[in-house]
Amino acid sequence: MKRAEAARSNPPQATRVKELIEQRNGQGRELVARTNARDDVLAELRRVEADIEVARKRRARDEERLTQTAIARDALALQEEIAALGRRIDDLETAELELMERRDVAEAELAEQQALMDATTAEGRRLSEEAKRAVADAERELGQLTRDREALATALPAALRAEYDRLAARGTGAALFTRTTCGGCRIALSPSDIAVLRATPKDELAYCPECGTILVRTNESGLEESAEQGGVRFE
Ligand SMILES: [Zn+2]
Repeated sequence: MKRAEAARSNPPQATRVKELIEQRNGQGRELVARTNARDDVLAELRRVEADIEVARKRRARDEERLTQTAIARDALALQEEIAALGRRIDDLETAELELMERRDVAEAELAEQQALMDATTAEGRRLSEEAKRAVADAERELGQLTRDREALATALPAALRAEYDRLAARGTGAALFTRTTCGGCRIALSPSDIAVLRATPKDELAYCPECGTILVRTNESGLEESAEQGGVRFE
Protein backbone atom coordinates (compact mmCIF):
# COMPACT_ATOMS: atom_id res chain seq x y z
CA MET A 1 0.00 0.00 0.00
CA LYS A 2 2.86 2.36 0.87
CA ARG A 3 4.52 1.32 -2.37
CA ALA A 4 1.33 2.13 -4.34
CA GLU A 5 1.06 5.51 -2.57
CA ALA A 6 4.69 6.29 -3.44
CA ALA A 7 4.08 5.25 -7.04
CA ARG A 8 1.08 7.56 -7.24
CA SER A 9 2.72 10.63 -5.70
CA ASN A 10 6.14 10.10 -7.27
CA PRO A 11 6.11 7.87 -10.36
CA PRO A 12 9.52 6.39 -11.28
CA GLN A 13 9.68 8.57 -14.40
CA ALA A 14 9.34 11.85 -12.48
CA THR A 15 13.04 12.25 -11.68
CA ARG A 16 14.08 11.66 -15.27
CA VAL A 17 11.39 14.03 -16.57
CA LYS A 18 12.75 16.75 -14.24
CA GLU A 19 16.26 16.06 -15.54
CA LEU A 20 15.01 16.29 -19.12
CA ILE A 21 13.32 19.64 -18.44
CA GLU A 22 16.65 20.95 -17.06
CA GLN A 23 18.50 19.47 -20.02
CA ARG A 24 16.06 21.00 -22.49
CA ASN A 25 16.45 24.44 -20.86
CA GLY A 26 20.23 24.20 -21.30
CA GLN A 27 19.82 23.00 -24.87
CA GLY A 28 17.41 25.87 -25.55
CA ARG A 29 20.00 28.41 -24.36
CA GLU A 30 22.60 26.82 -26.64
CA LEU A 31 20.10 26.87 -29.52
CA VAL A 32 19.59 30.62 -29.04
CA ALA A 33 23.38 31.16 -28.97
CA ARG A 34 23.82 29.16 -32.19
CA THR A 35 20.91 30.96 -33.87
CA ASN A 36 22.50 34.29 -32.98
CA ALA A 37 25.89 33.12 -34.33
CA ARG A 38 24.24 32.04 -37.61
CA ASP A 39 22.34 35.36 -37.87
CA ASP A 40 25.57 37.34 -37.30
CA VAL A 41 27.22 35.48 -40.19
CA LEU A 42 24.18 36.08 -42.41
CA ALA A 43 24.19 39.81 -41.62
CA GLU A 44 27.90 40.06 -42.41
CA LEU A 45 27.37 38.14 -45.64
CA ARG A 46 24.58 40.53 -46.69
CA ARG A 47 26.84 43.54 -46.01
CA VAL A 48 29.65 42.06 -48.13
CA GLU A 49 27.23 41.21 -50.95
CA ALA A 50 25.86 44.77 -50.88
CA ASP A 51 29.45 46.14 -51.02
CA ILE A 52 30.19 43.90 -54.05
CA GLU A 53 27.02 45.18 -55.75
CA VAL A 54 28.03 48.84 -55.16
CA ALA A 55 31.62 48.26 -56.40
CA ARG A 56 30.43 46.43 -59.53
CA LYS A 57 27.96 49.20 -60.40
CA ARG A 58 30.67 51.81 -59.93
CA ARG A 59 33.10 49.86 -62.09
CA ALA A 60 30.43 49.48 -64.83
CA ARG A 61 29.78 53.24 -64.70
CA ASP A 62 33.54 53.99 -64.92
CA GLU A 63 33.91 51.64 -67.88
CA GLU A 64 30.99 53.39 -69.60
CA ARG A 65 32.54 56.84 -68.95
CA LEU A 66 35.94 55.59 -70.19
CA THR A 67 34.42 54.84 -73.63
CA GLN A 68 33.06 58.38 -73.79
CA THR A 69 36.04 60.48 -72.67
CA ALA A 70 38.62 61.94 -75.08
CA ILE A 71 40.74 63.49 -72.33
CA ALA A 72 43.85 61.37 -71.66
CA ARG A 73 44.20 62.48 -68.02
CA ASP A 74 40.55 61.59 -67.24
CA ALA A 75 40.95 58.26 -69.03
CA LEU A 76 44.02 57.40 -66.91
CA ALA A 77 42.21 58.30 -63.69
CA LEU A 78 39.24 56.15 -64.72
CA GLN A 79 41.52 53.20 -65.61
CA GLU A 80 43.23 53.45 -62.21
CA GLU A 81 39.89 53.52 -60.43
CA ILE A 82 38.61 50.56 -62.47
CA ALA A 83 41.75 48.56 -61.49
CA ALA A 84 41.33 49.52 -57.82
CA LEU A 85 37.65 48.55 -57.92
CA GLY A 86 38.63 45.21 -59.49
CA ARG A 87 41.01 44.46 -56.59
CA ARG A 88 38.35 45.50 -54.07
CA ILE A 89 35.76 43.24 -55.73
CA ASP A 90 38.27 40.32 -55.64
CA ASP A 91 38.87 40.87 -51.90
CA LEU A 92 35.15 41.15 -51.22
CA GLU A 93 34.41 37.96 -53.18
CA THR A 94 37.07 36.09 -51.19
CA ALA A 95 35.42 37.35 -47.99
CA GLU A 96 32.03 36.33 -49.40
CA LEU A 97 33.22 32.74 -49.99
CA GLU A 98 34.64 32.51 -46.47
CA LEU A 99 31.38 33.82 -45.02
CA MET A 100 29.37 31.30 -47.05
CA GLU A 101 31.49 28.51 -45.58
CA ARG A 102 30.99 29.90 -42.05
CA ARG A 103 27.25 30.17 -42.75
CA ASP A 104 27.10 26.48 -43.78
CA VAL A 105 28.96 25.43 -40.59
CA ALA A 106 26.69 27.64 -38.46
CA GLU A 107 23.57 26.17 -40.12
CA ALA A 108 24.83 22.61 -39.52
CA GLU A 109 25.58 23.37 -35.84
CA LEU A 110 22.14 24.89 -35.45
CA ALA A 111 20.45 21.86 -37.05
CA GLU A 112 22.47 19.54 -34.78
CA GLN A 113 21.35 21.46 -31.69
CA GLN A 114 17.74 21.46 -32.88
CA ALA A 115 17.91 17.67 -33.35
CA LEU A 116 19.31 17.25 -29.80
CA MET A 117 16.49 19.34 -28.42
CA ASP A 118 13.87 17.46 -30.44
CA ALA A 119 15.21 14.16 -29.03
CA THR A 120 15.02 15.52 -25.47
CA THR A 121 11.48 16.79 -26.07
CA ALA A 122 10.41 13.42 -27.51
CA GLU A 123 11.88 11.49 -24.55
CA GLY A 124 10.27 13.90 -22.09
CA ARG A 125 6.86 13.52 -23.74
CA ARG A 126 7.16 9.73 -23.83
CA LEU A 127 8.14 9.53 -20.13
CA SER A 128 5.40 11.97 -19.13
CA GLU A 129 2.85 9.72 -20.83
CA GLU A 130 4.34 6.67 -19.08
CA ALA A 131 4.25 8.50 -15.74
CA LYS A 132 0.62 9.42 -16.30
CA ARG A 133 -0.23 5.76 -16.93
CA ALA A 134 1.83 4.66 -13.87
CA VAL A 135 -0.07 7.15 -11.67
CA ALA A 136 -3.39 5.90 -13.00
CA ASP A 137 -2.33 2.26 -12.37
CA ALA A 138 -1.18 3.13 -8.83
CA GLU A 139 -4.47 4.90 -8.15
CA ARG A 140 -6.42 1.84 -9.28
CA GLU A 141 -4.22 -0.44 -7.16
CA LEU A 142 -4.51 1.88 -4.17
CA GLY A 143 -8.29 1.92 -4.54
CA GLN A 144 -8.37 -1.88 -4.56
CA LEU A 145 -6.00 -2.14 -1.57
CA THR A 146 -8.08 0.37 0.36
CA ARG A 147 -11.25 -1.61 -0.33
CA ASP A 148 -9.46 -4.85 0.67
CA ARG A 149 -8.18 -3.31 3.89
CA GLU A 150 -11.56 -1.86 4.80
CA ALA A 151 -13.20 -5.24 4.23
CA LEU A 152 -10.54 -6.85 6.39
CA ALA A 153 -10.70 -4.18 9.12
CA THR A 154 -14.45 -4.59 9.59
CA ALA A 155 -13.92 -8.35 9.91
CA LEU A 156 -11.29 -7.95 12.65
CA PRO A 157 -11.93 -7.46 16.35
CA ALA A 158 -11.40 -3.82 17.37
CA ALA A 159 -8.39 -4.57 19.61
CA LEU A 160 -6.63 -6.47 16.86
CA ARG A 161 -7.37 -3.68 14.41
CA ALA A 162 -5.92 -1.05 16.78
CA GLU A 163 -2.82 -3.17 17.33
CA TYR A 164 -2.48 -3.72 13.59
CA ASP A 165 -2.77 0.03 12.88
CA ARG A 166 -0.15 0.80 15.54
CA LEU A 167 2.33 -1.65 14.01
CA ALA A 168 1.47 -0.72 10.41
CA ALA A 169 2.32 2.91 11.18
CA ARG A 170 5.99 1.98 11.66
CA GLY A 171 6.38 -0.92 9.25
CA THR A 172 4.71 -4.19 8.48
CA GLY A 173 1.58 -4.52 10.61
CA ALA A 174 0.97 -8.20 10.23
CA ALA A 175 2.39 -10.99 8.15
CA LEU A 176 1.58 -14.57 7.41
CA PHE A 177 3.61 -17.07 9.39
CA THR A 178 4.41 -19.70 6.78
CA ARG A 179 6.56 -22.82 7.19
CA THR A 180 8.05 -21.49 10.46
CA THR A 181 9.12 -18.25 8.76
CA CYS A 182 7.90 -14.71 9.51
CA GLY A 183 6.47 -13.08 6.34
CA GLY A 184 7.51 -9.66 7.63
CA CYS A 185 11.24 -10.10 8.14
CA ARG A 186 11.64 -13.47 6.37
CA ILE A 187 13.49 -14.90 9.36
CA ALA A 188 12.88 -18.58 10.24
CA LEU A 189 12.09 -18.82 13.91
CA SER A 190 14.06 -21.01 16.28
CA PRO A 191 12.46 -24.13 17.81
CA SER A 192 12.09 -22.37 21.17
CA ASP A 193 10.32 -19.39 19.53
CA ILE A 194 8.06 -21.85 17.72
CA ALA A 195 7.32 -23.55 21.02
CA VAL A 196 6.23 -20.16 22.44
CA LEU A 197 4.03 -19.63 19.37
CA ARG A 198 2.47 -23.06 19.79
CA ALA A 199 1.71 -22.23 23.40
CA THR A 200 0.05 -18.93 22.46
CA PRO A 201 -3.73 -19.42 22.38
CA LYS A 202 -5.36 -19.01 19.01
CA ASP A 203 -7.42 -16.05 20.17
CA GLU A 204 -4.33 -14.14 21.40
CA LEU A 205 -2.04 -12.09 19.22
CA ALA A 206 1.31 -13.65 18.44
CA TYR A 207 4.30 -11.50 17.58
CA CYS A 208 7.47 -12.18 15.61
CA PRO A 209 10.32 -12.14 18.20
CA GLU A 210 12.61 -10.73 15.47
CA CYS A 211 10.61 -7.83 13.99
CA GLY A 212 7.56 -7.39 16.20
CA THR A 213 5.04 -7.99 13.41
CA ILE A 214 1.75 -9.68 14.29
CA LEU A 215 2.09 -13.24 13.06
CA VAL A 216 -1.00 -14.55 11.29
CA ARG A 217 -1.06 -18.29 11.87
CA THR A 218 -2.61 -20.53 9.25
CA ASN A 219 -2.61 -24.20 8.29
CA GLU A 220 0.66 -23.62 6.47
CA SER A 221 2.46 -22.15 9.46
CA GLY A 222 4.21 -25.37 10.40
CA LEU A 223 2.46 -25.35 13.79
CA GLU A 224 0.35 -28.35 14.64
CA GLU A 225 -2.84 -26.50 15.46
CA SER A 226 -4.64 -24.62 12.71
CA ALA A 227 -5.64 -21.09 13.62
CA GLU A 228 -9.07 -19.55 13.32
CA GLN A 229 -7.55 -16.75 11.28
CA GLY A 230 -6.58 -19.20 8.56
CA GLY A 231 -6.83 -17.69 5.11
CA VAL A 232 -6.77 -14.08 6.28
CA ARG A 233 -4.19 -12.09 4.37
CA PHE A 234 -2.60 -8.82 5.38
CA GLU A 235 -0.82 -7.04 2.59
ZN1 LIG B 1 9.52 -11.09 11.72
